[in-house]
Amino acid sequence: MVKSNSGSFNFLNSFSALSNIGKTGAVLLNKIINPYLCGSKLYAKLEGLNPGGSVKDRPALYMIKNAIINGNLKEGMVIIDSSSGNTGISYAMIGALLGVKVKIYAPSNMSEERKKVMRLYGAELILTPAEESHDGAIKRAEEEYKRGGKDLYYMPDQYNNVFNPFAHYETTAVELLEQTGGNIDYFATGIGTGGTILGVGKKLKEYNNNIKIIAVVPDNEMHGIEGWKYNYALNFKDFDQNKIIDDFVKVDTEGSYSMLKKIIKEEGILCGFSSGANVYGIKKLTEKYRGNFATVLPDTGLRYLSTRVFNEIM
Ligand code: PMP
Repeated sequence: MVKSNSGSFNFLNSFSALSNIGKTGAVLLNKIINPYLCGSKLYAKLEGLNPGGSVKDRPALYMIKNAIINGNLKEGMVIIDSSSGNTGISYAMIGALLGVKVKIYAPSNMSEERKKVMRLYGAELILTPAEESHDGAIKRAEEEYKRGGKDLYYMPDQYNNVFNPFAHYETTAVELLEQTGGNIDYFATGIGTGGTILGVGKKLKEYNNNIKIIAVVPDNEMHGIEGWKYNYALNFKDFDQNKIIDDFVKVDTEGSYSMLKKIIKEEGILCGFSSGANVYGIKKLTEKYRGNFATVLPDTGLRYLSTRVFNEIM
């Protein structure tokens, strides 16, 4: 917990947006995959209900809070990172509230909604060539970080920052256990940074080592599922992928899109592409496993209104 003496960075105001990060609702998604569940349940946490509209509010808050506690982020400094979406928005929201400048590098082909949201919060958005993809944005952010140095910039570096999985270990997983009464056999979700699967997975296994953790992964590099990484590399200290992830299930993009459409139209939840992919992955897993499943619906569908898929599923 941050002490009230951390200068003007006031996290303790219990009525701020930051105090509303996490504690998201959970729903049973039985309806859309009922025939496959054979009487079991599928719990899903509605991460789009976070103030920044996605699950990334949790790690962003944890990383920034701890940077302040550890003295890596001081007043007058700038938060710098690369993100094509949700994490950047979370940094921008938290930065707005704390009065900290935020500078985000992202590929120019990211959605217009995302660009707008970051800029509305007051973040500086530097667009990098689309053909360089994520890696180009990461490279350029790192170059600027080196140019400005540690006195000017704080870089959360979500791919290596242990407070990313730790946020899910301490919050997402704990909430899920409370909301389900611990009545879970499988937790399945996709991988971007791996923070969600490793953080939630570690805590669930500590609670009950019989719970299986399953990664839902795309079947091709051009999957188009925002937030997911095809060639991921997970190396967070204390969150060992080999001890946490038990199995993998591959999903195709079209199947993920049609599942998303069902979640919106039949469950009444306007969520994003990775939510559809997670649930589609679980539908596939029911062919192999029997029991109660849990997952997260990582972000709000409002973030994708201008995309082709959302126009098509109207
Ligand atoms: N879905 C969406 C929409 C995301 O923004 C992210 C984060 N990149 C993920 C899934 C994957 O989450 P994580 O980074 O925790 O693996």
